[in-house]
Amino acid sequence: MIQHLSSQIEWDVCIIGGGATGLGAAVDASTRGLKTVLFEQHDFAKGTSSRSTKLVHGGVRYLQQGNIKLVMEALKERGLLLHNAPHLVKNQKFVVPHYKWWEGPFYGIGLKIYDWMAGELGLGPSQFLSKEQTLELAPTLDPRGLKGSIVYHDGQFDDARLAITIAQTAAQHQGVVLNYFPVTGLLKTKNKIAGVQVKDVFTGKTYEVKSKAVINATGIFTDAVMQMDDAHHKKLIAHSQGIHLVVDKEFLPGDTAIMIPKTDDGRVLFAVPWHNKIVLGTTDTPVSKPSLEPVPQAEEINFILSHIGRYLTKDPQLSDVRSMFAGLRPLVKGKTKKTAALSRDHLITIAGSGLITIMGGKWTTYRKMAEDVIDIAVEKNNLSKNPCVTKELKLSGHDQQPYPPTSTATTDIKKAIADEMCMTAEDFLSRRTRHLLLNARTAIEAAPLVAKTIAAEMNKDDNWINEQINDFTKLAKNYIPSPNLKHQPLN
Ligand SMILES: Cc1cc2nc3c(=O)[nH]c(=O)nc-3n(C[C@H](O)[C@H](O)[C@H](O)COP(=O)(O)OP(=O)(O)OC[C@H]3O[C@@H](n4cnc5c(N)ncnc54)[C@H](O)[C@@H]3O)c2cc1C
Repeated sequence: MIQHLSSQIEWDVCIIGGGATGLGAAVDASTRGLKTVLFEQHDFAKGTSSRSTKLVHGGVRYLQQGNIKLVMEALKERGLLLHNAPHLVKNQKFVVPHYKWWEGPFYGIGLKIYDWMAGELGLGPSQFLSKEQTLELAPTLDPRGLKGSIVYHDGQFDDARLAITIAQTAAQHQGVVLNYFPVTGLLKTKNKIAGVQVKDVFTGKTYEVKSKAVINATGIFTDAVMQMDDAHHKKLIAHSQGIHLVVDKEFLPGDTAIMIPKTDDGRVLFAVPWHNKIVLGTTDTPVSKPSLEPVPQAEEINFILSHIGRYLTKDPQLSDVRSMFAGLRPLVKGKTKKTAALSRDHLITIAGSGLITIMGGKWTTYRKMAEDVIDIAVEKNNLSKNPCVTKELKLSGHDQQPYPPTSTATTDIKKAIADEMCMTAEDFLSRRTRHLLLNARTAIEAAPLVAKTIAAEMNKDDNWINEQINDFTKLAKNYIPSPNLKHQPLN
């Protein structure tokens, strides 16, 4: 990949950011035959894209808000993703329990509309269930006051694994995708964007990379890149944190997830089986600064434990939390006059310099976002006009089984290094496998073996191994609730 970087004089499309949005754009551009390069400052999906609730969904919540267009688009994308990446996306059954008489018909009708909107791409019809049928599917649901439930279907996926798969797909189509390559500045000719300056984190070597189109797909870091373009740029992005707690399967045995459409303070709460654990979430907490390692706050942990406890027969305690992870939503706070296309929930802007920025959206709609932004890049830069082909494009590995989510087999570590650009112990334990998110304590125990195996493959010394183990252990401690924390049940 790095050799390709030096051999290409000018690229058609250069993408900054290797999350869902940037990687999707890289696949879209490379499969249209455009010369495409992508730079990610850390590892692929290190940002928000490895920290989602793992749902491929139309968004029942958006339906409640009456955002029909957005839901229709997301449901269509859900169907396409299930078709194109069946190794990473599956049909997930949810129960929506109801405790008041009106909730059954209210949510039931809404979910019937949701089914209808999915049309041929639907994952199964929603159904009304009695109390007994509900408890058969979700035996640990609190039976007190339970009237029944509605069952509906949505998609569930492995976000970081999908990101790696998308990166591989781009590479299979001659796209160059580089992790650990931050963009440190923008190149300009007569005030027009002409490329980027990048730095190889591991060697310190810097490169000037020329490109006809430059796309800023940096999520919560959008403003920082816009400021590289225009020092007077006014910030557009606000950050909102969402956390998840991961507990053992005993809290929700079986394959059915629970969706609570409205908690006391109006949030949606999920308990979803994932890789043989249960993911509980999420929250919505404003935070002032973007961070690649946001940390769950005590109030957020307390909120999730207290609320989910109301719906389960056994209340999860702090000591039951095997791991916890936080992600930041980039929320677009201001409107800009330079808006080129205001498309559903994502926004694409073009600066005076020609820098294209794509913001917002969600994992589920990454393909459509990519199509929209590459259409604009083609149009604005007179690139060759081959049509988008990703609707039908099967993603890399679609016919293979991914390796186990907590694997520490040395063959899998070697495979991740050889085929998936895994460079550090954290890359393997957090995003090539999902060990850190599933059980932070056992992930810490696995770190020495992972670091040693990578060192042997990549010719690193003992200092490197020790550094890797220390860095990973320090990071992973933020995925375990502090022993000083006290769970304070809400009334
Ligand atoms: C709590 C939570 C739950 C969610 N759950 C769901 C869900 O269940 N389903 C769903 O569809 N969506 C969900 N989402 C939304 C979804 O996760 C995001 O929309 C998506 O991951 C955003 O991807 P992105 O590529 O835009 O941003 P990111 O994933 O943050 O990627 C941006 C990348 O840019 C890189 N970068 C920044 N600056 C530079 C630079 N100078 N040089 C190079 N690289 C740089 C960063 O390192 C980062 O990796 C959720 C979001 C949150 C916060």
